[in-house]
Amino acid sequence: MSGKPLLKEQAFLLTRRTDAIVKQYQPLSMASSEDTEGSLMPVDFIQLQQYMEDSSLRVKDVMKDFYPGGRLAKHTHGECLDSEGFCLFLKTYLEVEDFPADFCKRLFCYFQHTEQDGSTNSPLPKGGRVFLQDVSCYFSVLEEGQPREKLEFTFKLYDKDGNGLLDSSEVDRIITQMMRAADYLGWDVTELRPVLKEMMTAIDVDNSGTVTLEEWVKGGMNNVPLLVLLGLKMTEKNGQHIWRLKHFNRPTYCYVCKSMLLGLGKQGLCCNCCKYTVHNQCANNNPDPCARTFVKSKQEIGKPTHDWIKADCNSSKCQVCFKKIKILGGSRCVWCQEMRHDDCINTGIPKCDCGELRDHILPPWAIYTASKQEDDTNILNVTPDGQILQTVQIPDTHPLLVFVNPKSGGNQGERVLRKFQYLLNPRQVYNLSNGGPSPGLQFFRNLHQYKILVCGGDGTVGWLLDAIDKADLQVCPPVAVLPLGTGNDMARCLRWGGGYEGSDLTEILKEIKASEVIALDRWSIQVIPNNLNEAGDPVPYEIMNNYFSIGVDASIAHRFHSMREKHPQKFNSRMKNKLRYLEFATSESISASCKKLKDCLFIECCGKQLDLNNVSLEGIAVLNIPSMHGGSNLWGESKKSDSLSEAEHSQVITDPEVLKSVSQDISDRRFEVVGLEGVLEMGQIYTRLKSAGHRLAQTSQITIRTSKALPMQIDGEPWMQPPCTIHITHKNQANMLMPPPTKASGFFHK
Ligand SMILES: [Zn+2]
Ligand SMILES: [Zn+2]
Ligand SMILES: [Zn+2]
Ligand SMILES: [Zn+2]
Repeated sequence: MSGKPLLKEQAFLLTRRTDAIVKQYQPLSMASSEDTEGSLMPVDFIQLQQYMEDSSLRVKDVMKDFYPGGRLAKHTHGECLDSEGFCLFLKTYLEVEDFPADFCKRLFCYFQHTEQDGSTNSPLPKGGRVFLQDVSCYFSVLEEGQPREKLEFTFKLYDKDGNGLLDSSEVDRIITQMMRAADYLGWDVTELRPVLKEMMTAIDVDNSGTVTLEEWVKGGMNNVPLLVLLGLKMTEKNGQHIWRLKHFNRPTYCYVCKSMLLGLGKQGLCCNCCKYTVHNQCANNNPDPCARTFVKSKQEIGKPTHDWIKADCNSSKCQVCFKKIKILGGSRCVWCQEMRHDDCINTGIPKCDCGELRDHILPPWAIYTASKQEDDTNILNVTPDGQILQTVQIPDTHPLLVFVNPKSGGNQGERVLRKFQYLLNPRQVYNLSNGGPSPGLQFFRNLHQYKILVCGGDGTVGWLLDAIDKADLQVCPPVAVLPLGTGNDMARCLRWGGGYEGSDLTEILKEIKASEVIALDRWSIQVIPNNLNEAGDPVPYEIMNNYFSIGVDASIAHRFHSMREKHPQKFNSRMKNKLRYLEFATSESISASCKKLKDCLFIECCGKQLDLNNVSLEGIAVLNIPSMHGGSNLWGESKKSDSLSEAEHSQVITDPEVLKSVSQDISDRRFEVVGLEGVLEMGQIYTRLKSAGHRLAQTSQITIRTSKALPMQIDGEPWMQPPCTIHITHKNQANMLMPPPTKASGFFHK
């Protein structure tokens, strides 16, 4: 995973800085010189970032508690927070009840010394306190959000009398906090400081010595490096690069000033889509525009022409004159990847064939700006200047509509998003955090031949299949999966592996091209409580794609427990509640009551009652796919049988002898019902000591009645359900893509 080296790098920078602080303030923080307790560890910062990713709260919401009349106002002393208040701030903001006390203490020290490493003269708060604004400003720069909103928020934090004016020393303080956040994110601040200083002199346009909110926001919004720091996301403006901070490990040049990127880590801004690279400070100096992503008129539709962007051709040969291309001397077509000397661009063939990814690319000449009259339904595809984008089918291609859940699999989602923006047209790559699946489905709805790729966990795939159902599309595009995170059972069954491990995405695109369409059964699950007034947890889903279970399901508990061990930071209060339930569910009392599970269960498959008398039963599982909880197969292998053909046609099979030869099929409009003996058995299946549960039925419909509260789960989401009736019936089939069997077992199958 390529996210890791960057984290290490950040960690390195962070250690250096915090070491310096600790040394400087040794008498204040810790007594012993060998003592490392007082310093911030690299792992602290990584953990802090994890906490922030998992928290749903915004700084500005938490701030309210500390203002006069707020819940925690007693910890605010003028502009300052005491140490207890600081810890409460962290606990509230990060939604972690038991935030480690020593970690809190170290962070408190860190903020206490804010003023010393900045260039401002504000007096240090007395008596072990920190400035509330500094803390808020720092965290708000790091959290997700729109740059404009962040600029306004930080301004208002320091505008205490609310008159809409800041003096220059106050703006300096904001910048100091931003620099600290930048430092934390791995920026070389020695390069950033002059850029921001320059911005400061430019900001105060009327030379009044004070800065208005308007001046501040305008200055900030025109400063590219600052916008990148504030987390500027995709702007979707034609010709505008999508910048991100990048560290290069080999000599790299700035395409604006033509000189090298220097300094620690050779950092600069690099465009996600076209890899155009500049110095941080050169981003404001009219860089070449980014590649076009659509054409301006219908006349240009279907006319393939190269889009040349300055590139590091790395001594490659020019494909026109076949001579080597020297540094800064060449360009690359962003679609077909051909390289040419800048002087050879116009002598070569202008027609672009989109190279080896031709089948997947939706090129700019397939997207045009339509007038309102031509189409008034497609309001979701409007450019910033109000033009409506319309798509056209390019013959013999199957453009790929990519959806990425950036929250899946740690940093993997973000990385995959960036890579696809580069490999394909950024307009065919959608971040699910921005409005979910419908903008992308709407954009592609005029095409009659396309494919979908979902990058995320099984839950993300389910989300997309639901959205496809609801979008009422003319054609039902087949769906491929790039599994992010771990334990993805559906992806595994479709041969996409249990989790992506960072292999070359071009190879995965080739696999998608070679894939076959397979139908996947999907099931409606209806849960009707016996007593409508008895409040249980909400039922997580109405559709089952993978599996459903009732009763002792130790592997779920196992999953939660192992997750807690692996990712302690993921256990925010919501997860803790779930865990508490699971601990309860597998505790002796529940386990004991699940021992008599058959006494409180009534099961009917297609009108035929299941006889549970001769089985010892602590759990029941309904399986649509042959994998559960990250690869356990509860049904197991089946022996071959000649009598199978006869059984294949029946709606329901319960004969134990016939069941022995029944195998699972994700498109047979039937599911399998398995009985589980108990925690021990589940544990054994999970650890592969035992191969399967007790086969009870293969059926196309099931009704289950329960007479007491029992733990249940659908597709891995557990809940506690009071007595109820459950109906599972066939909903539909989704078109899924499955790669050829030989390749899948290779490089990314897990
Ligand atoms: Zn430059
Ligand atoms: Zn670009
Ligand atoms: Zn080209
Ligand atoms: Zn040439």
